[in-house]
Amino acid sequence: AHLDRIAAVEPAVHAFLHVSDEDALATAADVDARRAAGETLHPLAGVPIAVKDVVVTRGVPTTAGSKILEGWVPPYDATLVERIKAAGLPILGKTNMDEFAMGSSTEHSAYGNTHNPWDLERIPGGSGGGSAAAVGAYEAPLAIGTDTGGSIRQPAAVTGTVGVKPTYGSVSRYGLIALASSLDQAGPVTRTVLDSALLHELIGGHDPRDSTSIAEPLPDLVGAARLGANGDLSGVRVGVITELQGEGYQAGVLARFHESLGLLERAGAEIVEVSCPHFTYALAAYYLILPAEASSNLAKFDGMRFGLRVEPSEGPVTAERVMAATRGQGFGDEVKRRIILGTYALSAGYYDAYYGSAQKVRTLIQRDFSAAFAQADVLVSPTAPTTAFKLGEKLDDPLAMYLNDVATIPANLAGVPGLSLPAGLSDDGLPVGFQVLAPAKADDRLYRVGAALE
Ligand code: GLN
Repeated sequence: AHLDRIAAVEPAVHAFLHVSDEDALATAADVDARRAAGETLHPLAGVPIAVKDVVVTRGVPTTAGSKILEGWVPPYDATLVERIKAAGLPILGKTNMDEFAMGSSTEHSAYGNTHNPWDLERIPGGSGGGSAAAVGAYEAPLAIGTDTGGSIRQPAAVTGTVGVKPTYGSVSRYGLIALASSLDQAGPVTRTVLDSALLHELIGGHDPRDSTSIAEPLPDLVGAARLGANGDLSGVRVGVITELQGEGYQAGVLARFHESLGLLERAGAEIVEVSCPHFTYALAAYYLILPAEASSNLAKFDGMRFGLRVEPSEGPVTAERVMAATRGQGFGDEVKRRIILGTYALSAGYYDAYYGSAQKVRTLIQRDFSAAFAQADVLVSPTAPTTAFKLGEKLDDPLAMYLNDVATIPANLAGVPGLSLPAGLSDDGLPVGFQVLAPAKADDRLYRVGAALE
C-alpha cells in the first residue's frame, strides 16, 4: 500500500531519491512468512520505513543529496540500518535532503526540490525534508532523519510530523556520512510520539563502532510515552525559554505555542520561565563550528575514493587538478560556501579568534542548559520561528535561511535531546511545531511530555 501511495504522490512531492520496491516487498513477504510460522518478531516488524540519503545502505545508492556521490553504491550498512533490517522493517527507499545536510529547506539538494505535502509551493524544511514529507504525505509511516542543527525537528515542525533528535552519543553515527561530527545525531520522524519512542529504542543504544557512543542502556522510552499518554503531568516542571520566543517568531506560531503551554498546565505541569542568556549567540557559534568540522569531513571527497571523478578539461592530469575539477563540479554553492568559511575559521592566525571563540560560546550554552535544568525538568519553545515558507523565498539569502535554526541549534551544541511535535495550524493553515528539550540521557522525559500533549 505504501509503494502504491509513493507511486501516486511522488510526481508532486518528490520525497525520495531512490525507491527500493523489490527489497521492501521481499522483506515484507519474509516477515509475513516468519509470523505465520509462529515466530515472535519485533513490534515494528513489517512496518515500512524511509531512510535519509545521508545514511549508508549496502547495495543501495547513497548520495547525501550531492552530485559528488552520484553512482556510489556503499559496500556496508550503517549500524542503524543493520538494526532496522534485523527487526524486519521493509526499507522503502532513500529520501531527499539538502546536499550533505546543509540547509533548512531541501532546496540545496542536487536532485531537485521536495515539496511540502500541505502546500506544494512551500518548503518541507531541511535538511531532512524528504523524510518529513514522506511521513507527512503518508508515503511512509516511519522515517530516519539526521539532526546537526535541527534537520529532524524543523522539517517535522513544518510538515506536521513528530521528529526526535536523541542525546548525542545515544544513536550510533557509524555509517552516517558526517557533516559535523560533534553535533550529528540520527533519529526518528513519525506521525505519533509513541512511534518515535519505538523507533528510537530500535536504532539507539551502544555501538562499539562509534567512539562517541554512550556505553549505557537507553532509558525506557516506550514506557515513558505510555505513561505520558495518560495525560497526567503532575510534578513535572516545564521551563519556557525566554530567549526562544517573541521577536522574529510568527504570531500564529506563538499563539499555538501558548495554547500548548495551557494544555501542559491543565495536565498538572508547573510552568516556569527560565532564561538562557547565551542562546542569543548560538547561531553565530554554530555557523563557525559546523563549517569548520564540515570542511574537514568533506576533504575525503577527492575524486579518487568515491563517486564522481572529473578530469581537468585541459592541461596536465595531476592529483591536485583532478581534485579541484571534481570538487568544483561535484559540490553545490552552499557546500562550497561552508568549506570556504570553515577552512578560513581553522586557518593559522584566525583559529583562536573564530573557532576558539565559538567553542567558548558552546561551553556557555552548555552552562545555560545546566542552570535551566536545575529549575525545570524539560524546556520548551516553538521548534521553528515560522511555518513553511515558499520555495525560492530564502534561497538567495543564506543568513535568512540560517535563522530558521535559531531554536533548534542550542540542543546540538550541548548534546541534549529534543523532540518536535505538532501544535496545530497557524493562521495561514500550516503546521506549527512545539519543541521539548531534556537533559542529556533523559530522553524519556521528551516522550512523557510529548505523549501527554498529543
Ligand atoms: N539547517 C541547519 C544547517 O543548515 C541544520 C542542518 C542539519 O541539522 N543537518 O546547518
